[in-house]
Amino acid sequence: MPEGDTVWNTARVLHRALAGTRLTGSDFRVPALATTDLSGWTVRESASRGKHLLLRLTAPPQAAPAADWTLHSHLRMDGAWRAYAPGERWTARPAHLIRVVLRSPEAVAVGYHLHELALLPTAGEEHLLGHLGPDLLGTDWDPDEAVRRLAAAPEVTIGEALLDQRNLAGVGNLYKCELLFLRGLSPWTPVGAVPDLAGTVALAQRLLAANRGRWTQSTTGALRRGQTSYVYGRRAQPCRRCGTAIGKEELGDRVTYWCPTCQPPPAPAPEAG
Ligand SMILES: [Zn+2]
Repeated sequence: MPEGDTVWNTARVLHRALAGTRLTGSDFRVPALATTDLSGWTVRESASRGKHLLLRLTAPPQAAPAADWTLHSHLRMDGAWRAYAPGERWTARPAHLIRVVLRSPEAVAVGYHLHELALLPTAGEEHLLGHLGPDLLGTDWDPDEAVRRLAAAPEVTIGEALLDQRNLAGVGNLYKCELLFLRGLSPWTPVGAVPDLAGTVALAQRLLAANRGRWTQSTTGALRRGQTSYVYGRRAQPCRRCGTAIGKEELGDRVTYWCPTCQPPPAPAPEAG
């Protein structure tokens, strides 16, 4: 599942494949960009901000009204970018999922099932992304600001607040579930009742940072299939700590996994009213 670390890894792959090169061709398969041709454009860098990918480009003179442009994309649940060598077969996903192909002399970058694909002046990034909270994997990561934003809505459940990218950018459902297990917090705990919000935020950052640079997301330290999470994706399986069956329920517009014993309900229990 693409979360902040996956997007960070993807940005790095694109950076290595394309940064500093001039594109020799592009093929956009989304209506809004169908006539866009990035041939001759130079790729300055690839970066991530929370779960957003930013491929920064320089337009050749006369090609565009500004020099600095950003190709924005979002992976959501199912998007991906892959870099291939020229001539290599594109095997990652079915061809009908391709939304864009970028060619350079050394590499071909293929974007699959991308969302919010848009070309905008780099100066407009802030307008697009300015609502995001501090980026957990950003060089400007600001834990105090993340805590401040979370604490500003004390009645919201911590399970929903952690997914709200306006509070902090990069946590998806997997890390949310795992983080709350590791902190012994019920997902239904109101933010105002979380005893150590700063500790929770700090652990979120460590979990994502630990998974930078690899594609297998693990919160347990184990990389073997089926052992990479404590609660996420483990409904009805025994808790690795106490043996209680892991629960799965809807919370907000997402499902959440938790151990009813290790993560007892906040007092008074929400079920009891
Ligand atoms: Zn447990």
